[in-house]
Amino acid sequence: MIQRRSTLSSRKGRLRYLLLHLLSKYMVGCYLCSAPFTESDVPVRTVDLLTEHHIDGNHFNWNKDNIVLTHRKCHKQYHGRNRKES
Ligand SMILES: [Zn+2]
Ligand SMILES: [Zn+2]
Repeated sequence: MIQRRSTLSSRKGRLRYLLLHLLSKYMVGCYLCSAPFTESDVPVRTVDLLTEHHIDGNHFNWNKDNIVLTHRKCHKQYHGRNRKES
């Protein structure tokens, strides 16, 4: 048996740590509401609250200058409720 669950959660914990480190280092915040991200915005399941937004609207443009982090709720609002975003 592989300890899948614990491996996954420790990986997520590291990711969260890294993300928090980056957030504090670069003082990044939500691109849409411009509130700085805090620890409470970065739960272990990071994907729940934060998402990426492509500035030019082209979701195939993965140029780093085109990608910003936003709150998931701001992102939803920005794109409108009817449009499905992933
Ligand atoms: Zn926001
Ligand atoms: Zn978007």
